[in-house]
Amino acid sequence: MSELQTEWIPGEVPPADENSADYWEATREHLLTAQSCTSCGRVQHPPRAVCTGCGSMEHLEQIAAAGTGTIDSFTLVHRAPRPELVTPYVVARVRLAEGPIVLSRLEPAVPGDGWQIGDPVAVAWRDLPDGRALPYYRPAGATDDGEN
Ligand SMILES: [Zn+2]
Repeated sequence: MSELQTEWIPGEVPPADENSADYWEATREHLLTAQSCTSCGRVQHPPRAVCTGCGSMEHLEQIAAAGTGTIDSFTLVHRAPRPELVTPYVVARVRLAEGPIVLSRLEPAVPGDGWQIGDPVAVAWRDLPDGRALPYYRPAGATDDGEN
């Protein structure tokens, strides 16, 4: 779709570390994952070494996330920090169905009547040159017509 912006992939995405390796591996299959604590039940993202609920370092496991959520807040960016970024674009806090809030792109920048807080969204993916992929969010029900 012509309104999708594909130019926003940053030149360098940080490499995986010991905490994020499993997360990044899953992105290669376009699978969104989060961490769940088998001790206290908290679900967190991004991946960490310690549970932010109970402090456990031994009970974190990777779980598949549904890839759905709702817009918690968003902003329409008109002045980009890098000249190659096409404006306007939307950066949003998305509350995942599992609970964690992620900061991500929404596309298209201005759909239909515009974005509203509380709108349902679904994850989509932009592939990186190294095989990993970056998640972004689209209106729920929209198909991922990215570079699959
Ligand atoms: Zn915990």
